Amino acid sequence: MQQCLTCGAFSLKTVCPECGERAQAAAPLKWSPEDHRASLRRKMNDVESADWPRNLSTLPSLKEMQANLSQEEE
Ligand SMILES: [Zn+2]
Repeated sequence: MQQCLTCGAFSLKTVCPECGERAQAAAPLKWSPEDHRASLRRKMNDVESADWPRNLSTLPSLKEMQANLSQEEE
């Protein structure tokens, strides 16, 4: 599905049947490495607060993992 860049008409061709302008694949917004909502999301999650890193999940420590492993072996 193509959509005209000029008038917005849909067609199956890359040239708009309505106005003859260029039509482009009508697809969802492309993913961009620039996340335009990143700052908004950071604000939502309050990542700048000092408490935020403490809320992140962490891996168990190496000793805990070794303890669990040896328990499983028994
Ligand atoms: Zn058009």
